[in-house]
Amino acid sequence: MNNSAKSNIDSLYGALVEAAVDGIITIDEQGIIHSFNQAAEKLFGYKRDEVIGQSVNALMPRHYAEQHDEYIENYLKGYKAKIIGIGRDVPGQRQDGSLFPMHLSVGEALTDSGRMFIGVCHDLTGEKKLLLQLARAEKRFKDIVQNQKEMICRLDEHLRLSFVNQSSVDGLGSAESELIGKNFLDLIDENQRAFAQRSLNALFEAGEGVEELGLLLNMSGTAPDRTIDWTFSALKVSEEFGVEIQGYGLDVTDREAAMERAQYLMSHDQLTGLLNRQALLHRFSKQTKRHETYAVLYFDCNHFGLINQKFGHDLGDQLLLIAAQRLNSTLPDNALIARPGGDDFIVVYPVEHSSDTAVMAAAVIEELQEPYQLGEHLLTVRGRVGIAHYPHDGADIDTVIRMAESAIFYRDRLVDGLGFYNPQQQQTLMRTLDIEQRLRIALDLAQLEVYLQPKFTLADSKLAGYEALLRWHDGTVFVSPGEFIPIAESMGLGPELDRYVLEHVCEALVTAQKAGLSIKPIAINITMRHFGHADFCDFLFSCLQKANLTTTLIELEITEGVLMDREDKTQDNLRTLRDRGIRVNIDDFGTGYSSLSYLADLPVDVLKIDRVFVEGLNTAKGLRLVEGIIAMADAMQLDVVAEGIETQEQVNILKSLDCRVGQGFFLGKPQPIMTALNIPKP
Ligand code: C2E
Ligand code: MG
Ligand code: MG
Repeated sequence: MNNSAKSNIDSLYGALVEAAVDGIITIDEQGIIHSFNQAAEKLFGYKRDEVIGQSVNALMPRHYAEQHDEYIENYLKGYKAKIIGIGRDVPGQRQDGSLFPMHLSVGEALTDSGRMFIGVCHDLTGEKKLLLQLARAEKRFKDIVQNQKEMICRLDEHLRLSFVNQSSVDGLGSAESELIGKNFLDLIDENQRAFAQRSLNALFEAGEGVEELGLLLNMSGTAPDRTIDWTFSALKVSEEFGVEIQGYGLDVTDREAAMERAQYLMSHDQLTGLLNRQALLHRFSKQTKRHETYAVLYFDCNHFGLINQKFGHDLGDQLLLIAAQRLNSTLPDNALIARPGGDDFIVVYPVEHSSDTAVMAAAVIEELQEPYQLGEHLLTVRGRVGIAHYPHDGADIDTVIRMAESAIFYRDRLVDGLGFYNPQQQQTLMRTLDIEQRLRIALDLAQLEVYLQPKFTLADSKLAGYEALLRWHDGTVFVSPGEFIPIAESMGLGPELDRYVLEHVCEALVTAQKAGLSIKPIAINITMRHFGHADFCDFLFSCLQKANLTTTLIELEITEGVLMDREDKTQDNLRTLRDRGIRVNIDDFGTGYSSLSYLADLPVDVLKIDRVFVEGLNTAKGLRLVEGIIAMADAMQLDVVAEGIETQEQVNILKSLDCRVGQGFFLGKPQPIMTALNIPKP
C-alpha cells in the first residue's frame, strides 16, 4: 500500500470513528489514551484534549480502574483477558464523577506506535432503564397474580399444573413444589373427574379465543375438601409452548354451605323442621307417580291460640314440636309432611284405596290428642282433619290441599273431627264465605230491608201487631234470613244486625206517628248471643227514648236457646224488660229443648208455636200436642201466637183451641215496613 492510499484509509477511518454513535477510545499498553472520538466526548463529558495523554482509569470507577490495570498486565503476560473480543457490561465514569452503565468491547491492534487497544463504549443507560422497567412490571404482575384471592393456575396439554399462585397453594393445601407437575384431575373429586377431563380437553381442542369454561368442582385430592368455582380459558402462550389453559378459581365452599343452609331455611319450617307448604308442593311435583292416588290430610288444632295465650308461646312451640314428631312417627315413611304455619299440618302420601285414609287420619288424630307433658303442665288438644284425595278431588295438589283444608270447616263434619271433602258441602261452604263477604258490605250500605208480617186475633180477625223480618235482595238474588242470619251471628255481626232492625223500626214508627196513624206493636227478633249482652237493654231504651216512643210499641222475640243460657245478664235483661213493659215472645217454641216448666219462673209473655206444629194440626197427635201447649201456656198466663198459618182450616182449628193470635201467609204476608204501616210515600 502506498502512502497516499494509506492516508486515504486513515482519513476514511477517522471519519468513521467520528461518525460512530458509540464512544471509541484507543489506549496503549500503559493505558494512556491516544484517541477519543466525539461520541466518547459526549459520553464521558471530557473534551478530547483533556483526556488524550491521560490514563484511561479516569473513565472508570476506582475499583474497575484497579482491575483494568490487572487485565492489561495479565494480557501482556500472555493471559487472555476476559474482556478482549467478548465485551462486557461495566460502569463508566463521567467527568463529573457520575456513573453510567455501558457495554465495553475491546479489540487490539499493532501499530507503528506499538500495541494499541481500541475500546468501543456503548451507553446502556436507555436499555438498562427499559430492562429495569420490564423487571419491575414483571414483578408487579407477578405480585398481582400471587396476591389474588382467586386461585390462578395454568395447565399444560396433559392437564398438568405448570403454574400456581399463592392462593392455589393455600386453597389446595399442598406446597407449590408438590402441585407443579401434578395432574389437575387428581385434585378433583372422583365423581367429577371424567366430566372435568372431557370439558378441559374440549377447551384445549377449541383453542384460544373460544368461550370460557365454568366448572364448579369439589377438590378432594387435597386437604381440606373445598368447592371451587373455576373459570378456564385457553391461552396461546407462544409458538414454542403452544396452548395452555389458564384457570381462575374462587373458593365458594362457604358460599355453597350458606346457600345450602338458605335453601333449607327457605323450604323448611324453622320450629319443627318439617317442610313448608311451598316445599311440599315442589317435592310432590317431583315425586308424583302417574295413576297413583294420594291422600291429603289437613290437620288443625282447636283453640290453639288459647294455649299460647294461657301458657305462653314457648310452651305452644314445644307442643307443636312434639306434635310434629308424633306425626312423623305415625305416618308412613313416604309421607310428605308440612307445617304451613300456625297450628296446621299438611300430610300427603300415596294410598292404595281412598277408603284406607279415614283409618290413618283417625289414628293420627288420636295420637295428636294424647296428653302432652310439658314441664309441670299436662296439656291436651283437640284436633280436626280435613281429608281429600289427589287426583280424585282436584287436578292439582294445591287445589286438593285447599279442598282438604276447607273440609275442616264443614258444619256437619263426621264424628271424631274428620271431614271428608265433598262437592255439596264445599258448595255450601263457598256460599257461606261468599255471603260473609257481601253481608258486611250490605250492612254498611244499608241494603237490608225491614219487612213487617201482621198478626191477627183469630176470633175477630183484628190486627194484633207485627213481626219485623229482614229481607236482602242482593242485586237480583234474594238471600233468605234463615240463611244469612246464622252466618251473621257466626261472624259476630248479630248485635249490629239487631240494632239495624231496631233503628229502622223506630224510624218508621216515628214517621207513622207523625202521620197520625194508629200503630200496633212490632216484634223484633233478637239474635241469640246479643240478648245476654250487658248493654243490650241500654241500647234498646236509648233508641226508644231518642225517637220518643213508648215501650209498648216494641216487643222482642227470642228463641228458647237464649233462655237455656242461665247467665245472670240474660235473667237481668228479662226482668228489666218486664219492668219497662216490653213484652218478650218465645219464638219457634217447641223446636228447642226447653220445657214449659222451665219457662214458669221466667218473666216472658208470649209463646209463639212453631210452624211445624201448626202444619201437624191435621193429625190427631199433632192436634193434641198444640192443645197441650195452649192449655199449659194458659196455666202459666202466657199469651199464645200460632206461626205459619197457611189455611183457613188451620185458622178454624186454632180458634177452636182458644189460640188467641195467629200469623201466617194465609193471614198476611210480610211487606215492606212503610207499606205494612200504610205510611204514605213522600
Ligand atoms: P221467625 O222469627 O220464626 O220468623 C217467621 C218466619 O216464618 C219468617 O221467615 C216468615 O216469613 C215465615 N213465615 C211466616 N208465615 C209463614 C207461612 O204461612 N208459611 C211459611 N212457610 N213461612 C211463614 P223468614 O222471614 O224467612 O225468617 C226466617 C227466620 O230468620 C226467622 O224466623 C227469624 O228467626 C230469622 N229472622 C228473620 N228476620 C230477622 C231479623 O230481623 N232479625 C233476626 N234476629 N232474625 C230474623
Ligand atoms: Mg220471629
Ligand atoms: Mg218463628
